[in-house]
Amino acid sequence: MELINSMTNEMQQLNGGKSGHEQLLRGLSGQSCAYCDGTLTREQFQSDEAVVCDECGTPAARIW
Ligand SMILES: [Zn+2]
Repeated sequence: MELINSMTNEMQQLNGGKSGHEQLLRGLSGQSCAYCDGTLTREQFQSDEAVVCDECGTPAARIW
């Protein structure tokens, strides 16, 4: 029983981490780029969720 409980806890932590990334992406989206005057927008970057600058294309965050 203890093993099953610890596995369940681990899965919940993984799910929490995913929603944390989602929050991170939402928080970054709409902010100004650190390298130019562009705005960070959510995009697919090499088939991953990412936030990139719409001017210079610099990725500010990416979920691997
Ligand atoms: Zn930029």
